[in-house]
Amino acid sequence: MNLETLLHQTFGFAEFRANQEAVCRAATDGRDVLLVMPTGAGKSLCYQLPAIARGGTALVISPLIALMDDQATKLTAAGLRVARIHSGLSRDEARQACRDYLDGTLQFLFIAPERMRVPNFPEMLARRKPSLIAIDEAHCISAWGHDFRPDYRTLGDFLPALRPAPVIALTATATPTVQRDIITQLKLTQPDLFIHGFRRHNLAIEVVELSKPRRNEFTANLLKEKSNRPAIVYAPSRKAAEDLASTLGGSAAAYHAGLDPATRERVQRHFLSGNLEVVVATIAFGMGIDKADVRTVVHTALPGSVEQYYQEIGRAGRDGKPSRTVLLHSFADRKMHDFFLERDYPAITDLTRVAALLTSDYQMPDLLRQRLQMEAETFDKAVEKLIAQGAANIDMGGNVRAAEDAPRSAAWRKGYDEQINFRRSQIDRMVQFAESAQCRMAALIQHFGDTDDGLRPCGHCDFCAPLSATAQTFRQPTTEEERQLRAILRALDGQTRATGKLHTELSTGPLRNTPAAERKVFDTLLDALTRSGLITLITDQWTNPEGNVVTYKKAALTHEGRTLTGPLPPDLLLKDAGQAATSRKKSGTSNKAKPSKASLKAERDQTTAAYTPTQKSLEANLREWRKTEAAKTGKPAFIVFGDSVLHNLVLAAPQTISQLLTVSGIGQEKADRYGADLIALCRAEATSGIIDSSNPRVTRSPNVTSATTRALPHTKESPSRPERIEVERPAFLSTANSIPTETFTRQRATAPDPIESLTPDQQALDERLRDWRKAESERLGLPLFFVLASTTLRNIVLARPQTLTQLKSIQGLGLEKVEKFGPGIIEVCTT
Ligand SMILES: [Zn+2]
Repeated sequence: MNLETLLHQTFGFAEFRANQEAVCRAATDGRDVLLVMPTGAGKSLCYQLPAIARGGTALVISPLIALMDDQATKLTAAGLRVARIHSGLSRDEARQACRDYLDGTLQFLFIAPERMRVPNFPEMLARRKPSLIAIDEAHCISAWGHDFRPDYRTLGDFLPALRPAPVIALTATATPTVQRDIITQLKLTQPDLFIHGFRRHNLAIEVVELSKPRRNEFTANLLKEKSNRPAIVYAPSRKAAEDLASTLGGSAAAYHAGLDPATRERVQRHFLSGNLEVVVATIAFGMGIDKADVRTVVHTALPGSVEQYYQEIGRAGRDGKPSRTVLLHSFADRKMHDFFLERDYPAITDLTRVAALLTSDYQMPDLLRQRLQMEAETFDKAVEKLIAQGAANIDMGGNVRAAEDAPRSAAWRKGYDEQINFRRSQIDRMVQFAESAQCRMAALIQHFGDTDDGLRPCGHCDFCAPLSATAQTFRQPTTEEERQLRAILRALDGQTRATGKLHTELSTGPLRNTPAAERKVFDTLLDALTRSGLITLITDQWTNPEGNVVTYKKAALTHEGRTLTGPLPPDLLLKDAGQAATSRKKSGTSNKAKPSKASLKAERDQTTAAYTPTQKSLEANLREWRKTEAAKTGKPAFIVFGDSVLHNLVLAAPQTISQLLTVSGIGQEKADRYGADLIALCRAEATSGIIDSSNPRVTRSPNVTSATTRALPHTKESPSRPERIEVERPAFLSTANSIPTETFTRQRATAPDPIESLTPDQQALDERLRDWRKAESERLGLPLFFVLASTTLRNIVLARPQTLTQLKSIQGLGLEKVEKFGPGIIEVCTT
């Protein structure tokens, strides 16, 4: 039967959608395939149709129960024979599925990647070879990504036993780097690559530079317009989401993983039904949402990667009608991401300390952490990273051991470094996207490597159609500005120049004493020239002595720019800097706007310009020390601590450890590790004579507060440790919409526990509680830590509560759990 007939008879479609047919043919012919296609473009059909065409049973490996259930339901409804095996089903159901598989009565068998870890399961599969293997959400296999699932890494080892079936890997989000990683990890044989469908014809993409304090007001104004709703707004933290939702009022609600499931469900339901018009969400929102008429997607902060950004704006305009996406960003966003990076990637020395304690036996993570006296967050991250590097394994209960075939430490250290660099490059790419002067849609398509697209301008974005941008206003240049624009063109005649140098030269020459002597205004002129096609900006990089890659831009004339003789082209329009269209009524000139972005260097110069000579000297010494410290372990300088922390240290110049601990960005761990050195440096400076008494230490000058606020979005002004910034885990690792099948996420301990060894009685109780937890988790189909985190379990063992009231007082056990599991726990404790 040919594929069209099959498509028609099985799925009822008259014809293939764009790009589907070629993929189906390749897979049906038995070729390995990597398919990268955005959500909603008809990706699933590309493995389902070939599977039916080839006969036999297709094995589908999928990381999310919700995805599996959804696909299985649809296929069953189409009259196909489907079975699933995942932790949400009973043992009997799983056994039946295995029997049916071996009997050859199934057309599709869906499993979670973790299932491959179950003893004898891979062997069972190999007894009757599948006719096709589909790996959904294949980007999870790549250690590069956020969604990385350790169990995906070992999949490649099991596949050879299941061959000769073709393997088709599918994902909605993979850059060329991740694509290569997928191919390597899965050991695909000369796969056909299909990367298609990233162009969205109905999206008008806008990117607006706006300082953080103005973003909520801007968003509120934008969404006042009825035609801009329904809307999804992505905020960088739970707190930011709550704040904005309350600013927006009535028809808006916040949505994040910190809300209880019932509230989340209600928000989703009301948004789908239209009762709620705006959802202000962290990234946990949208996985399970298919609302077709979302008119606007707003980002109130720079997303962490272009992949994430693309997925999120993709939720606008699924109905094909014109829709708009607006990204708000400024230089401060870059700093926020640097801060997250530092927080999320512990120092390699931490990883080494953890790795040194691992043995071939599984050990309780809490005990290991206590032996190391490491902060829970650092410890958890270190374990997570070791797993990602293949140096450690974790079992279903969250216990850790050294991986059997762990790479040598030099190898995983290198891998970890690469991972950090990759993460950094993702942020760089996102910043570049926001700052780039090219068609936004073409830039996105290029990012995903959809080379067949042709990269033609979209005609809707703020680059292609500046006059129709809602968030940004443009205007004709004045005569004086025309003169300035021409001066820039002349300076570029016959040569490519770094924009920084070009600015320095012109601001002391033809642009002297004009607003364009200011870098920001000068950049607006460059931007306008780029937009009208007279010059091009090329991004280039160099590595500074601290090992950080610095990105800069070079400008050159285009053919049009070189041959321009008459008047400037009419489409040469200047951006009203920082002036949102929605607030244009209020102020006519942009000068009233707060001073916002400066370039990295300018900002640093600005910060350090106010330093006293003592502070300058301390800053230099701290930098030097940081460099040496970084070099010792071969890690980048920012891992020791970032520039903003360094700045805080300079201003506070702490003389004691307790003073040091009040410096924003310095936690207990850093104080322990670097405290002695830092105090010594600060004291040396203080005793060297020149102390500026107008700038008392520890008490913060207003300067500190503003600098700190810029770097750490939610830092309190009081001299305390920074409030933890909550960033949502990606949906795959969160419980927001879909419960992951089995993940390696563990509940965190809230405070370090005292080191205690268990008495024989306690050991017995510990064992009984674990058995009970296992039974509960199987009964509910949830991972163990959903029932009880290991730390909490430990607390219960130590306290041995006899009543519900006693149980309630145990740390880590919320009311909800007491209600749900309390009687069971008390029963275990009292027997
Ligand atoms: Zn465009």
